[in-house]
Amino acid sequence: MDLLLFGPPGAGKGTQAKLLVEALGVPQISTGDMMRAERSSGSELGQRFDAYMSKGALVPDAMVLELMEKRLRQDDASEGAIFDGYPRTVEQAEALHGLLGKLGRRIDRVVSIEVSLDVILDRVTGRRVCLDCGQTYHVRYSPPPESGVCAACGGSRIVQRKDDVEDVVRNRYEEYKAKTEPVLAYYQPRGVVVAVDGTGSLEEVSARIMAAIEGAAKGA
Ligand SMILES: [Zn+2]
Repeated sequence: MDLLLFGPPGAGKGTQAKLLVEALGVPQISTGDMMRAERSSGSELGQRFDAYMSKGALVPDAMVLELMEKRLRQDDASEGAIFDGYPRTVEQAEALHGLLGKLGRRIDRVVSIEVSLDVILDRVTGRRVCLDCGQTYHVRYSPPPESGVCAACGGSRIVQRKDDVEDVVRNRYEEYKAKTEPVLAYYQPRGVVVAVDGTGSLEEVSARIMAAIEGAAKGA
């Protein structure tokens, strides 16, 4: 099964992707990670990436697609993949469609994790993080110990990250919406898009995603 997972920053997409990897037995494919790995491998393609990445320039779509094809032809991805951070544009979606078609595959499901801005603001702005061990807290749902000492590691540097503030969260959400909507609109007529309610616990959201995917597996 080839799957796209969308969700605004703060929707828990990363965690859900990990759970899906375990449940479906297919790899998560992150173009950013792959490009970085290819670049440090020093391969011919990696050197071509480097020419762009070292200047902070965008790597051309055709080169990303070349890497994607290489990845999708590897054994562990022969039964499908979970695409992360790609496609970001309609052009990339069309290119991916062409590539998957060549491999006799298609995107089976596009899961859009839907969470309102209010819920995300509540989640993210209330978040506190231990700088020493990465343990996360939430001022209301899992408050850090009053002593200020991290329950996980005993460190005393529990802080609000500078990006976890309202303006930043709001801007990232709007940016996500503006970028993602055209890509979702591209897949909509293909009947593969499912909107999943992203509120509630990790387990609840995961169960909803699995139910939406099983619909796809049965050809619904
Ligand atoms: Zn800690």
